Amino acid sequence: ALGAMQDWSMRVTRLIDHAARETPDREIVTHWADGSETRTDWAGIRRDALKMTQALRALGIGQDDRIATLAMNHSRHLVSWYGAIGVGGVLHTINPRLFDEQLQYIANHAEDRVLIYDAAFAPIVARMKPQWTTIEHYICFDPPASGGADYDLAFETWIAAQDGNTTWSDGDERDPCMLCYTSGTTGNPKGVLYEHRSTLLHAMAGIQPNSFDFDSRSVMLPVVPMFHAASWGLPWAGAMTGVKFVYSAVNDPAVLCDLIRREGVTHSAGVPTVWLGMFQHLDATGEGLGSLRQAIIGGSAAPRFMIERLMKAGIRVAHAWGMTETSPIGTVGAPSADWDHLDFDQKVDVVAKQGRPVFGVELRTVDLDDRTKVLDRDGVSSGALQIRGPWVIKRYFKAEEDAVDADNWFDTGDVAIIHPDGTLQLTDRTKDVIKSGGEWISSVELENAAVAHPAVAEAAAIGIYHPKWDERPILVVVRKPGAECCAEDIRSHLAGHVAKWWLPDAVEFVDEIPHTGTGKISKKDLREQFRDFVLE
Ligand code: ADP
Repeated sequence: ALGAMQDWSMRVTRLIDHAARETPDREIVTHWADGSETRTDWAGIRRDALKMTQALRALGIGQDDRIATLAMNHSRHLVSWYGAIGVGGVLHTINPRLFDEQLQYIANHAEDRVLIYDAAFAPIVARMKPQWTTIEHYICFDPPASGGADYDLAFETWIAAQDGNTTWSDGDERDPCMLCYTSGTTGNPKGVLYEHRSTLLHAMAGIQPNSFDFDSRSVMLPVVPMFHAASWGLPWAGAMTGVKFVYSAVNDPAVLCDLIRREGVTHSAGVPTVWLGMFQHLDATGEGLGSLRQAIIGGSAAPRFMIERLMKAGIRVAHAWGMTETSPIGTVGAPSADWDHLDFDQKVDVVAKQGRPVFGVELRTVDLDDRTKVLDRDGVSSGALQIRGPWVIKRYFKAEEDAVDADNWFDTGDVAIIHPDGTLQLTDRTKDVIKSGGEWISSVELENAAVAHPAVAEAAAIGIYHPKWDERPILVVVRKPGAECCAEDIRSHLAGHVAKWWLPDAVEFVDEIPHTGTGKISKKDLREQFRDFVLE
């Protein structure tokens, strides 16, 4: 050979070793459900994770075994991520908001052997235990002094019995390390199996200035739950730069805003509804957001007023698009080359779109009717969004076939426009676009226009069979409490925002719109609800 560089397996345990070695005393703060607060640091997380690895071995748990968690965001949950993976196992984060049928399916399908859960979710465990057929050990993160949570082991006592004097289980960098299920808006949930290598590469993408922009000063409050899409990879990316984590096991806006100010939080991440909750709290109390300078928003589109408000407060909005199948980082909004020359409204226009791909991600759009036809990145053509890269799914857990085409393109189920500078603009989901007379109507755009009406709390557009046009949109609306408005008000409001032929044929008022386990509008249930609706 002419020379050589080293082999250095890209294992997730590298992250925690690095954090504990280079930034051992950077703190991990937790605000617990009972209001108490504890502090540990990266060295402490590693020490406890090693103990957990020993404790798992003592139970006979090892390579490829699935270790599930059912928990909110806190330091013990973080320990369990590294401990489960450290033993060579596969961490399976279960979303407690799923419906019983889905909870039953995924734990059995994953063949989880261990479940570690928060006492707050003891009712779920009690309910599901008879249905869960593979779980051998029930471990409680925070057993209440009063009892009541039916567990075999208490997490702290369980790991305290070990001395931590051990090493991580070694293996291949292509070994699996984590399993996340999609909420399954159609059919059964599907498992996405992340690998050590994909997780490490994804973490590197996460810390970049163009994505989450972490450095040694960063203080991160992740509101995105650790049970949703790997908490956007934050527990891994955070270890890479040794950020100080501030966790809250409760999602109360008052607690979150207080923590942001008290702990000097610089970065936070959550879905739009989280930020909405914080705004309402700030409006009611007149408080501010302290030293926050980075708001990461994803999961669904960040509304314009939200972006404007944060930007006016001097906070960068990193508007991100991704999905469980993409680990999840796909695109993140970052300042473009001409950023400094844009005026405020133009900047908001940029941020309202879904950002540009980070290195490692390739995107393209194809024709919705003819998937072999690749569309131009012209800023107007809208098509099915496809993605490929080293942290994008190839095959679902236990699936017989690949989920990608021969060139590794994965069809996201999203409909999007790609602009000449690479900016992604989501317009809808493939199964939600409404096809009227051979032309596509974006349900998302109709909904966004509708919620801008002051009397509208929530709105959803769905296509209804029409004898002449194939499908026509109807709009389902929830009014704000005490607000008055009629169908004609909504239609004339919409007329100012969308093309005339996009106007819904009917506006139906309801008390509630159905949601999925991850809090998104369930179009499937809504369509079912309006199955017999007839348009004149
Ligand atoms: P699911 O909701 O299906 O369980 P995910 O949480 O992985 O799965 O959601 C991924 C989907 O969320 C994307 O395919 C896209 O439709 C939507 N999404 C994510 N981020 C954004 C965003 N910034 N703007 C609009 N939609 C988004």
